[in-house]
Amino acid sequence: MARKKTQTGCPCGLPASFEACCGRYLGPDAQPAPTAERLMRSRYVAFALGLEADLLSSWHASARPAELDLAADAGVVKWVGLEIVACRGGQEGDAEGEVEFVARYKVGGKAERLHELSRFCREDGRWYYLSGQLF
Ligand SMILES: [Zn+2]
Repeated sequence: MARKKTQTGCPCGLPASFEACCGRYLGPDAQPAPTAERLMRSRYVAFALGLEADLLSSWHASARPAELDLAADAGVVKWVGLEIVACRGGQEGDAEGEVEFVARYKVGGKAERLHELSRFCREDGRWYYLSGQLF
């Protein structure tokens, strides 16, 4: 599994190291993310690093795709930043949550942005991604 080290903090944009931030919620020994925002951040990092297994396992079974074609994006799409715009619910005692975010990426050197409102739900103590609405 490719794990990029960064000198400037976690790829999700927080100042903590990858290991102390989203790295805890990714990989075979992952802890459950405590909040919808934490899951959202770790899913962004999973997209950025091409961690398909983590993306699929954090997708709610009702909406989970059979597979993702991240390899087709590798080297074409470069994720360069995440900004959380707003969170509603999604805390440790909640069953549902929404996270609005802007993810910035580059395709062929051209800057693009993805503005999405993601919906999450919590089952058996784990947060799952349900769906997203683009702006
Ligand atoms: Zn992070």
